[in-house]
Amino acid sequence: MARYTDAKCRICRREGSKLFLKGDRCFTDKCAYERRPYAPGDHGRARKKFSDYALQLREKQKLRRTFGVLEKPFRNYFYKADKQRGVTGTNLLLLLETRLDNVVYRMGYANSRDQARQLIRHGHFTLNGHKVNIPSLRMRIGDEILVKEASRKVPVIQEAQQVIARRGTPPWLEVDGSQHKGKLVAVPTREDISFQINEQLIVELYSK
Ligand code: SF4
Repeated sequence: MARYTDAKCRICRREGSKLFLKGDRCFTDKCAYERRPYAPGDHGRARKKFSDYALQLREKQKLRRTFGVLEKPFRNYFYKADKQRGVTGTNLLLLLETRLDNVVYRMGYANSRDQARQLIRHGHFTLNGHKVNIPSLRMRIGDEILVKEASRKVPVIQEAQQVIARRGTPPWLEVDGSQHKGKLVAVPTREDISFQINEQLIVELYSK
C-alpha cells in the first residue's frame, strides 16, 4: 500500500496547523510547528494570498492527512457521507472518527493514528472477540476492542496508556484499563471533534 514516508512535521508546517501526528512529542516544545510555524522550503515564509480553491484544497489535505487516509479512499468517504442523512461535512468527520485505527488511538492504546494502524495490522487487538487487522474498519455502537493478552506488555501500548491517562478519553468511548479493553458507547457528535477544521470548505471542493 502507498504511504507517506517523508518527515511528518513537514505536513503540519505545510498545512499551517498542528495535526498531532507524532504522539507525545506534539505536546512538547520539540514540536517543529511551534519552532517554525511556516511552510517548509525556500519560499515557506513568503506571504501568500490564497484563492478560494486553494483554501478548500488545503482544508481537505489537512483532514485527510490528520487521519492518514489516501486520496481515493478519502473521496469515497466523502461520497458515503454525502449519501447519508444529515450534514455531509459532519457525516464525513464522523465516518473518519469511527475508523478502528482512530478509536484505538483515542482509547489510548497507541500514541498516534499511524502507530495504531501498525499495531492493528500486527494483530495486537480483537474486535468483539474476533481477530482484526484492518485499520479502516468502521466501529459501531457497542463494539468492543480488547488488547490481546500476549500484547499487553508491548512497550508502545504501555507508554500510550500512560499518556492517555494524563489526557483522558472522549465521552463517546469507555475504557477499562484494568481489563485492557474499550467500548464505543455512543456516536460522536460534531462538538466531540476537537481539532480545528472547516469541513464546509471540503464539501464545497468536492461539490464543484
Ligand atoms: Fe505536527 Fe508538531 Fe506533532 Fe510534528 S511535533 S507532527 S509539527 S504537531
